Amino acid sequence: MSKFQSTSWAGYLVDHHWPREPYISLENLSVEQYEDCFRKACIDHAVVYCKDHWGSCYYPTQLGARHPSVPFDLVGETGQMLRRLGAEFTAYYSVGFDEHAARNHPEWVARDPQGDMLRHPKLAPRPRWHRLCLETGYMDFMLEHLAEVLNRYDPDSVFLDILGHPHGTFWGAYLCYCENCQPAFKDRYGYEMPQNPDQMREHAFDVEDYKAHLDFKWIKTVRKVIKGARPLAAISVNSSAHFRRPTRELIDHHFTEPFWGHWVSGVFCRGVGRGKAPQGGAQVTSEIYDPSPRDLYRAFAAKHWAQGIRPLLYSPSQRPDGRLDNEEFDRLSDGYRDAGILREYIENRSSIACVGVVYHEQTCVDLPDLPYGESQTRAVKVIEFDTGKPDTSHRRMVGAAIELASYAQVPVDVITEQDIESSRLADYQLLLIGGASRLEEHEANQISRFVQQGGSVILSGDTGLRRKDGSLRDDFLLADAMGVHFDRLEDRFAMNPSGSFMARKPHPVWTGLAATDLPLPPPLYVVQPDEAEVLATHIDPCAVHEDEYWTSWWSPAPGRKTKIPLVTHHAYGQGQVVYFAANPFTDAMVWLRQGMANLINWLLDPPPIRAVVKSPGALGSTYWRRSQSGQVIVHLVNLAIEKLAGEVLPIKDVTIEVAEDFGKIRHARLAYPVKQELKVTQRQSVQSIRVPAVEVHSVLVIEL
Ligand SMILES: [Zn+2]
Repeated sequence: MSKFQSTSWAGYLVDHHWPREPYISLENLSVEQYEDCFRKACIDHAVVYCKDHWGSCYYPTQLGARHPSVPFDLVGETGQMLRRLGAEFTAYYSVGFDEHAARNHPEWVARDPQGDMLRHPKLAPRPRWHRLCLETGYMDFMLEHLAEVLNRYDPDSVFLDILGHPHGTFWGAYLCYCENCQPAFKDRYGYEMPQNPDQMREHAFDVEDYKAHLDFKWIKTVRKVIKGARPLAAISVNSSAHFRRPTRELIDHHFTEPFWGHWVSGVFCRGVGRGKAPQGGAQVTSEIYDPSPRDLYRAFAAKHWAQGIRPLLYSPSQRPDGRLDNEEFDRLSDGYRDAGILREYIENRSSIACVGVVYHEQTCVDLPDLPYGESQTRAVKVIEFDTGKPDTSHRRMVGAAIELASYAQVPVDVITEQDIESSRLADYQLLLIGGASRLEEHEANQISRFVQQGGSVILSGDTGLRRKDGSLRDDFLLADAMGVHFDRLEDRFAMNPSGSFMARKPHPVWTGLAATDLPLPPPLYVVQPDEAEVLATHIDPCAVHEDEYWTSWWSPAPGRKTKIPLVTHHAYGQGQVVYFAANPFTDAMVWLRQGMANLINWLLDPPPIRAVVKSPGALGSTYWRRSQSGQVIVHLVNLAIEKLAGEVLPIKDVTIEVAEDFGKIRHARLAYPVKQELKVTQRQSVQSIRVPAVEVHSVLVIEL
């Protein structure tokens, strides 16, 4: 793997995909100006377009189409310039879009069910590129072309764009109905490729398997060619953090665009991409010609560094005449300037294991977008087991659980089902499991053992309640640990935004919450308590939310009280399980931020380390340990800067609390943005460090 994989912390992509003349002259394109801009912005990693979505190449290719306005070898000269800078040189190659190839070889273009050429559905009404099928002659062309790039330039790494079927992302959720793909599907599954949404749902698991099979096959083939040409070139694929595991293992480092925002996607990518120098991006929130305030660039970089993932900013900074817009790099210099200072604190550390959000990718089944066609813009299909269909809601719950644990200001990681297999669970104190319905028995056993040995779990809805085919089991796999048994699914209120209201029993976890009947989304899983204590029971909404009889702006209000448990707590072995018979891992209900923070703190009692602040939604905190020493690093980021469109309202009155059991503090200091000794006070078993106001971001070093 390239030496740069773990050392570049300030990445950039000049993101163009320019059409050709008459709009684009590129007459003033200058690698010297690139160099000036990159130096100014402290860029230590650049992704360089070798071939863009138009299929235009920026070097003298023997195989593809050169951009007619670039008569010199832009890739070669930029590569040399990056070597001079000591920066990582990544070759960008657009796989799924190559408009030149598509227009010259219609037989290489993916087809919709009607046999029409498939164009990118998301981008209507803007010009849309055709999507190429890798089951055609295009694959051979592309592989030869990639080898040409590698052999000519020996880049440190390759960034492959528009490749595969990333789950829940924008460009991959399609099937191709070309004359090669249809028979291949039929050979594999014994029936015709599903052609409409109903058939797609009926065969959802096969469709999922088919997409995973193609991803694996394609990336394995591409990897062989890249490694054959340049064994040390690292491979990254756009949004590979969302690929399935076998495919992820073929990729050298993982990247994701910020589908859940930079902070939450950062936690996700760090967990799924562990050990693979993960990277995130892509935009600050502005256009070049309407730039964001400088502090937004600082916040962009800080959010990634704090998560331990490498930022990669894409922006369309190149004007039609080829000049880079200086202002962008001037602003970006504010963002990236301190990468050198911060390197000392963001390398050689591992996250403190405390709260683990379980990402169970076998639970997730995403269907492709249908119908295809030029008039269709993409709509994310929400497909849930609860309505008799496969499920993507688990992944949304993972995002919400990360957000809620972040709000609680405790250390949070994403852990995968492979972490369950490898018994990594033992490192954690608390697991959040949002609707991981298709848990397998051996995974449930590991989770039970984790609880017996002293771990805590908060879980929701149908976790461990579905078989592989999506049908309901008779009981939860984790019933013993939960102390409740499954009775039935209640989906009468499935259309109600508030499907349940809580009648709370007196309990410390409800302290400080509003004195009303707090809601949860539907559906309700009706359970029989066995040994569990009931913390709240379910109140029916007063009506079903439909348009004949209940016509109102609002979700129907609380109605009849029931004895059906809605939240339960069970002490099991040395550990504890809190079960929500509905979904608490959502951003749809405001009370859950405080409610989940209460629960997390109660179960951790106390957390090993946390930040205490009056406005937790404005603060991002991450917590790290150096293995060779007792050093703990805390990174604090002002997340409100993004919410305020780049204005900085410093976050005052932040305190870091460290439990005595976690370690006795010998010394605490602020290491960034200024160096300052910090006072430690102790009350009972908790040690507190008062932190100066967090402007953009702050780094603390605590010696235990
Ligand atoms: Zn095809």
